[in-house]
Amino acid sequence: MASWTAEVIVVGAGPVGLSLAAELRLAGAEPLVLERLAEPSGQRKSRGIGPLAAEALRRRGLGARLSAYQPERGAQKKREHGSEKDHFAWIHKIDPSLQEEPGRRGILIWQPDLEAVLGGHAAGLGVTVRRGHTVTGLAQDEDGVTGTVATPDGGRRLRAAYVVGCDGGRSTVRKLAGFAFPGTPPLMTARQAHAGVGDLGALPPPGRLPGGMLLHGPGGIGTFDFGDTHERHEGPVTVEELRASVRRVAGAEVTITRMDGALRFTDQARQAETYRLDRVLLAGDAAHVHSPNGGQGLNLGLMDAVNLGWKLAAQVRGTAPEGLLDSYTSERHPAGAAVLHNTRAQSALMLPGPHTDALRDIVADLMDIPDVNRYFGQLLSGLATRYAFPYATPDAHPLTGTHVPDLLLTLETDVGREVPLSGLTTGGRPLLAAPAGDPAVGVAARWRDRVEVAEVTSVGHPSLAAALVRPDGAVAWARVPGRPSDIALLEAALRTWFGGPS
Ligand SMILES: Cc1cc2nc3c(=O)[nH]c(=O)nc-3n(C[C@H](O)[C@H](O)[C@H](O)COP(=O)(O)OP(=O)(O)OC[C@H]3O[C@@H](n4cnc5c(N)ncnc54)[C@H](O)[C@@H]3O)c2cc1C
Repeated sequence: MASWTAEVIVVGAGPVGLSLAAELRLAGAEPLVLERLAEPSGQRKSRGIGPLAAEALRRRGLGARLSAYQPERGAQKKREHGSEKDHFAWIHKIDPSLQEEPGRRGILIWQPDLEAVLGGHAAGLGVTVRRGHTVTGLAQDEDGVTGTVATPDGGRRLRAAYVVGCDGGRSTVRKLAGFAFPGTPPLMTARQAHAGVGDLGALPPPGRLPGGMLLHGPGGIGTFDFGDTHERHEGPVTVEELRASVRRVAGAEVTITRMDGALRFTDQARQAETYRLDRVLLAGDAAHVHSPNGGQGLNLGLMDAVNLGWKLAAQVRGTAPEGLLDSYTSERHPAGAAVLHNTRAQSALMLPGPHTDALRDIVADLMDIPDVNRYFGQLLSGLATRYAFPYATPDAHPLTGTHVPDLLLTLETDVGREVPLSGLTTGGRPLLAAPAGDPAVGVAARWRDRVEVAEVTSVGHPSLAAALVRPDGAVAWARVPGRPSDIALLEAALRTWFGGPS
């Protein structure tokens, strides 16, 4: 068996693995990505990414590349859903214009296009992706992890300081490393296909039916089948399987004349108990699975990647302060649990029957109340995510632990030039934005080898006069206008995330 080494092995070149590898590279670690598929699958799973993930990718300079897909996808979404409003349990009432921060929106892009953009970004940073490499074995000891990999040229063994499983919902890494993965079994199985249906007229209109939910339109058909609660389906969706599901849900026989791009998924909701077992970590679907209702999987998984990248890079470089790597689980596990919770609620609201019909009517009426509409919008956007930082006192700025929007900073130098925060964070380093005379600038100067400082006349946010932003966009410290900077708190933040001063 041949052998090679890397600092971090990332298993899986899906969106999360590619993002994590890019983040590791930016923060100075040497990742190697192993992907079992010889070519990207091209599966049109995700239709877009949520606002937190969109902002995170904009902070790495990918905004223009991603937004180029938006107009085409927007038109398609309107055609297919009949509405530009977002839905909770397929109640299409979440109104973007009613949201507290309507400017903080996701990006509509099909998953294969997203993967192409992320693949290009990672390659541009020098990340190596080895395709046709399937991880089949894993053993960790005090110094590192040894993986067994099946390749087109035979079996290989490799060694790395850390391994991260970004290998999807059925994660091999998760199983091999022994992560507990508790949760709830499926209430339904969903199937979606680009398909020619010979006798669409034989079908009831799209909507709720005694056996589940039926969706159909020109060029496609799908079911949410509450009569199928198998935990584990294998192999691609067959024509007969799809016809049987339509029969169960709608009581109708259909002829499928052609089918491609068929997907099957369930609403089982499971989450790894911890995201780290010593030298093996999990991110993305490998760490949490749930129904795709509300399109939240990538908002969650990509934020796992940006949370973990700089922390794990510091760990392998030997510069991580005590507890930094474990803050990955303590910050990201609650964010995942919140998504599982709301997807379970959506499944409950989709159960067939008159009792759920009545409940849906009441929820739909409630969603007409603007505050309730905002509540549902926040639930799905993840914008309410707030990390509990160990040093944050009750006096800390209320935005501490939340993710910063793309602030428009007015620079002190450069005669008042305005730049978006995302224009200053492409290198992946933390950033302090503060007025020139603010004592915070002097404090951060002691961390100048690790922290960027932007002297500004305005931070571009009504409740912020200065802010320290971590590489993942979390507000580590901030000051409100009209109050002096709490220097002790700023120092605590800098030490907690980046270690002692140089
Ligand atoms: C129908 C559907 C619609 C969805 N819509 C949305 C949406 O609109 N918005 C949203 O945010 N999310 C959506 N999701 C969820 C989203 O697709 C997932 O959350 C996302 O794919 C997770 O990315 P990942 O990188 O964690 O895992 P994956 O995309 O599953 O990637 C894992 C990679 O690991 C590789 N791999 C697996 N095992 C091994 C191994 N042993 N060795 C090497 N490589 C391995 C796989 O080949 C794969 O390339 C949807 C999901 C479905 C099913």
